[in-house]
Amino acid sequence: MNKKWRRWFGWSNSKEEMWTSCRKQYFFHVIGKHEPGSMSQSVRGLQALDPLDFRKGTILHEAIRSVLRSYRDTQVLDLSKAKELIELKFNLIEEHPQDYLTEMRNGVDFDRGRIPKLKHLMLANFEPFFEKLWPKYSHKKILFIDGDEEFLSFQCGGYKVYISPDLVTQEENGSLLVTDWKVGSKERTEAWGREPEESLQLTAYVCWAGQKWEVPPAMIGAEFVYYGDLEFSRVKRTLDEMDQFAEFVEQRSKEMLDVTSPEDFPSNPSYRICSKCWYATICKEGKRVLTGEDVEF
Ligand code: SF4
Repeated sequence: MNKKWRRWFGWSNSKEEMWTSCRKQYFFHVIGKHEPGSMSQSVRGLQALDPLDFRKGTILHEAIRSVLRSYRDTQVLDLSKAKELIELKFNLIEEHPQDYLTEMRNGVDFDRGRIPKLKHLMLANFEPFFEKLWPKYSHKKILFIDGDEEFLSFQCGGYKVYISPDLVTQEENGSLLVTDWKVGSKERTEAWGREPEESLQLTAYVCWAGQKWEVPPAMIGAEFVYYGDLEFSRVKRTLDEMDQFAEFVEQRSKEMLDVTSPEDFPSNPSYRICSKCWYATICKEGKRVLTGEDVEF
């Protein structure tokens, strides 16, 4: 197994989710693109496509980011260009889904009618989102917008932690708020057991913001803002919780690095996960789940 990936190694919330749901997917995603020969080419090619729900999130984040960046420069909240961007990106997916969607590449039963429905929903919520959202932030100082730094990371528990917050704002008293847009609804997200109180992602944001701006945790809030139902979940973290997070990162990073061969990454196939997995076409267990056939690579 190539050792190059170790140079870039870091813990992140998304990698944690892969590690706990299917380690083989983690292998392809983190290590496969550094493997010699055809493996790296295949992985990089497959990563150019995304599952529809993932791509929907990318489009939404790009649209919100463009509004906020332009606001920071001009102090004018102009939504028109961002709405055009959403329309254009969804139209491209609608016209050429095979060039964009993992589900099409995986050959699974996929309802193409979902694409225009999602476009409609994204556009319908865009103005209400800013109408409800912006009064909460407009009086604050913007310290950071997603994209200000590429591959954002910080040190925690002796290891690198990658994060991707969307917005950091500051009140006049110096307190900070780190914001992450979630494309779904609060109700559905929490019904899946993703409670903000337990969120490692939000804890990582508080640790990062405390280090970067030298502010104590009592003065840092972190929140999810749900585009689907325009709801909020805001949390604080104590010093004890931050210490526990550092211990967790240290332990998990050691576990993730204590691997020597692809056999250390068992698969965990299921139709629900494999149908949207970037790597189903190069994974024999994934192919078997999707097609019912045994395939050797
Ligand atoms: S196709 Fe399924 S089993 Fe294979 S890596 Fe992806 S999620 Fe895991």
